Amino acid sequence: MSGALAVAFLALAGALLGSVFGAPALGALLVVALQQSWQALQFRRLNRWFDQGSGHPPVLFGALHRVAWRVYRQRRSSRARSRRLATMLRELQRATQALPDAVVLLEGEDRIVWFNTAGATLLGLQQRDVGQHLASLFRAPELRALLKADASERHIELPAPGDRAEILDLRLVPYGNARQLLLARDITTVARLRTMRQDFVANVSHELRTPLTVILGFLETLKDEEDAALLHRGLGRIQNSAARMQSLVEDLLLLSKLDSDQAPALDEQQPVQLGPFIQRLCADLQALHPAHRFVLAVDPDLTVPGLERELHSAVTNLVTNALRYSPDGGAITISYGAAEDSAHLSVQDEGLGIAANHLSRLTERFYRVDVGRSREAGGTGLGLAIVKHVLRRHHSELKVTSTLGQGSRFAFALPLQPRKDAPERAHG
Ligand code: ADP
Repeated sequence: MSGALAVAFLALAGALLGSVFGAPALGALLVVALQQSWQALQFRRLNRWFDQGSGHPPVLFGALHRVAWRVYRQRRSSRARSRRLATMLRELQRATQALPDAVVLLEGEDRIVWFNTAGATLLGLQQRDVGQHLASLFRAPELRALLKADASERHIELPAPGDRAEILDLRLVPYGNARQLLLARDITTVARLRTMRQDFVANVSHELRTPLTVILGFLETLKDEEDAALLHRGLGRIQNSAARMQSLVEDLLLLSKLDSDQAPALDEQQPVQLGPFIQRLCADLQALHPAHRFVLAVDPDLTVPGLERELHSAVTNLVTNALRYSPDGGAITISYGAAEDSAHLSVQDEGLGIAANHLSRLTERFYRVDVGRSREAGGTGLGLAIVKHVLRRHHSELKVTSTLGQGSRFAFALPLQPRKDAPERAHG
């Protein structure tokens, strides 16, 4: 029934009732007034409940009751939806906070809206930076260019603002309406590896080019040479250069093999007796270099588990270095003996010695204190890098002590092979 019809009906009923008392108009008026007051009361209750914004609807009648309950149900489902969204948002924020990469939300061109924990650590952002322009905080021209660039996805590399030694990869991803996501990742290790690879390729090319140039040069001059003595000398130089290239390539191959393999597997290891090998090696070298004096204190019976070929190569490198860098002869003392559970090897010379500032870099590929002298003596610059890798694969490391002008000592220790009669350890 519509409202007007209901009021008319009530007025009629009031008039009928009033006519019993001889005042139909007053009856109609009274009933309508009563109904309006009741209605107003109901509206007030409904209004108050609307204002409260929560709780069950008040007791209402008729259409108002239905309206109130409908609103109540809608309110309840929208509150549940908001709760679900808030939980999702919290989860999302927590996940973004846990990211190792910096995430910064930007509004407009570069106004900071929000950033995660890594944003603070990697980019040095602080809470008071929210609302600031990114370009005003970071003055790097590359970043300004990145913010201005007009591509769908852009990225640059920059030194980290806090620590210039760290390299960051910054990526700008536009999303939504005039919003952007700045992602920053620490790529220091990747960048360092890239530089190492570039340096390595440059070094290898350079090392190969020098003997190759010699070979080509001599081939050109010897083409029409008829003097047997000159021809012979030229061929000798060619042979030297070719031999140098060969040892470089061999060292490179060995290094790349050592690099790609993990520690030698237990079943690959064999009992290695380094003592007799050292004695043979030194006897051969002594015959070739009579000006040097080899002093040996070697226990021939020690056995260590490992890869024979690799350990021989490490020892050979250390002993030939001692020879190479003791140009005026002098004693080369090699001791190999047991102490506690290990076999200790040391190669000591009375040669050039090495200044302290070079010591930490000696095992880097192609690092030489004196490039000319190393090349002249047939060095590839890879010997100590090979020693380091071999020892690392045998869970050991090289110790170097040296005094400039007095000589050097290179030493390492390897665990001794457990004796057959030793009580067996249980393997897990
Ligand atoms: P190289 O082939 O040049 O000898 P290594 O890797 O074996 O390369 O050694 C790296 C550098 O360490 C050498 O160029 C040399 O400068 C220095 N070095 C190595 N052994 C000795 C030593 N016994 N005495 C002095 N310097 C040494």
